[in-house]
Amino acid sequence: MTYQIPFNKPFQTGKELVYIQDAIQRGKISGNGYYTQKCQEFFEERYGFLKCLLTTSCTDALEMAAILLDIQPGDEVILPSFTFVSTANAFVLRGAKCVFVDSRTDHPGMDESLVEELITPKTKAIVAVHYAGYPVEMDKIIDLAHQYGLKVVEDAAQAIDQEYQGKYLGAWGHLATFSFHETKNIQCGEGGMLVINELEYIKRAEIIWEKGTDRAAFFRGEVNKYGWVDMGSSFLPSELQAAFLWAQLENLQDIQAKRQAIWQDYQGFFSDDARQPTVLSEKYLKKFTTGIEEAQLTGNYQVCKKDSSPNAHLFYLIFEQLSHRTVFINQMKTAGIFTVFHYQSLHRSDFIQKYQGIDARELPHADRYSDCLLRLPLFYELS
Ligand SMILES: *Cc1c(COP(=O)(O)O)cnc(C)c1O
Repeated sequence: MTYQIPFNKPFQTGKELVYIQDAIQRGKISGNGYYTQKCQEFFEERYGFLKCLLTTSCTDALEMAAILLDIQPGDEVILPSFTFVSTANAFVLRGAKCVFVDSRTDHPGMDESLVEELITPKTKAIVAVHYAGYPVEMDKIIDLAHQYGLKVVEDAAQAIDQEYQGKYLGAWGHLATFSFHETKNIQCGEGGMLVINELEYIKRAEIIWEKGTDRAAFFRGEVNKYGWVDMGSSFLPSELQAAFLWAQLENLQDIQAKRQAIWQDYQGFFSDDARQPTVLSEKYLKKFTTGIEEAQLTGNYQVCKKDSSPNAHLFYLIFEQLSHRTVFINQMKTAGIFTVFHYQSLHRSDFIQKYQGIDARELPHADRYSDCLLRLPLFYELS
């Protein structure tokens, strides 16, 4: 079915084709050319990331991170259960065991206070996922990493342009990954980026990126021939994708401002109070559906809040029960509005249960967000 209001509509600035045409005219369409470097420098300068490498997806950037950290079979990686499959899959490809953390009571992001008790002598890394652009408390995670000699990867797929304690997300971890999938704030269809914040990883990251060869160093004239020096894969996007992405980055401020305005409208509408989660009354539910005849809202829901301002990646509601959410989704559907739920806890997934057995631990909050969280449409052109 087609919806009058889709969940997402990838925004185009109008300059994408201009830059793609320019990339073609420059005569180098494969990766690591003019636009790739322009995009990478943009992130390095604006957000204080040490080194950036564009990738074909955030999934690929996570796979690069797992290779760079030298994850081996049997190593343990701590990550939230309420996240996208790729956060875990990248480490599973290297044979790691996933140790899942529950979500916070007040927020779908991982509960920082539960991480330390999961650390064992086999733990190699912590993957912090900034759900909906809300920062994981990175100071706490970095402290733990120092104390136990662990590496930290930020899955910042949803966290572009967001600060935590005066430092941008993506600048905290040893490594960080971003996504430019068409559902993200800044997009090029499919795309991603690996951020390297430790000098010692830069050279090897470039080699892994270039199919395990020192081709990048060769083209800079640093070595006089290039060959196979490490494991790697084809992680570079073409210049066509980088040119598209550049058009978006040039408009980052405008895109963010527009999304913020929509987010604030939702927030203002759904909250009574700027601090506490709000259970909405019938009155608000009616107001929300003015002009939508068929929709009669059922059930209470909450707008989830944290103190920090978000980057307007997504707006969600938390229902009391799965059945309330289902009713709401169907009512919105009748009204032509496409609303969608989000992740299903990874610790309960068929694959993880087959791969590493059924997790005896209960992760009640991850399960609750799987059942009760609903995302509302949020895109540039939404009025
Ligand atoms: C979107 C997303 C990914 C995957 O991004 P791709 O670019 O589609 O590979 C990974 N992790 C999180 C948290 C995401 O939101």
